[in-house]
Amino acid sequence: MPTAKTTKTAKTKKAAEIAKQPFWQRKTLAQLNRKEWESLCDGCGRCCLNKFEEDSGEILYTDVACKLLNTESCRCGNYRQRQKLVPDCVNLTVETMLDMTCLPPTCGYRLLQEGKKLYWWHPLVSGRADSVHEAGISVRGRVVSELGLSEAEIEQRLVRWPQSKTALKRPKSGG
Ligand code: SF4
Ligand code: SF4
Repeated sequence: MPTAKTTKTAKTKKAAEIAKQPFWQRKTLAQLNRKEWESLCDGCGRCCLNKFEEDSGEILYTDVACKLLNTESCRCGNYRQRQKLVPDCVNLTVETMLDMTCLPPTCGYRLLQEGKKLYWWHPLVSGRADSVHEAGISVRGRVVSELGLSEAEIEQRLVRWPQSKTALKRPKSGG
């Protein structure tokens, strides 16, 4: 019957279109393998900043980075041992994400969990790790290490920019 043939063709076409999509668009977070999961991190370093939670639940960011964060590369200085060295560092998984209210709105994991798209500057989209820095999204050049600072001094350094989605203009040659 023509109707049946039409349906089958449409389904096949749709399946082919889905298969062509990048993994982060065609898979759920729970379906990602380890390598895919890790690659969702854009390397911004925002989640490694000291934060405070108000009684209302509001998250207040500071511009003070965890002692292990390399403030130039914006990467953890000891990713393998991080939870041993920094006990309050949370291992991000599909499960732990459900309780995390502190991920910035630009975080690749948060965006996908909320059904949104990755931004142009995400390394998976641009094809370049540096685009997160060029877009002004990473913490590079904007933070200090917590080393040597007291809790009171850290509390004095509240900032709003880590919760902003605003990026610098996309370069013409950018991905
Ligand atoms: S905020 Fe998200 S994307 Fe940025 S470094 Fe942390 S886990 Fe990675
Ligand atoms: S231990 Fe590493 S991953 Fe964890 S908050 Fe510190 S810099 Fe970030």
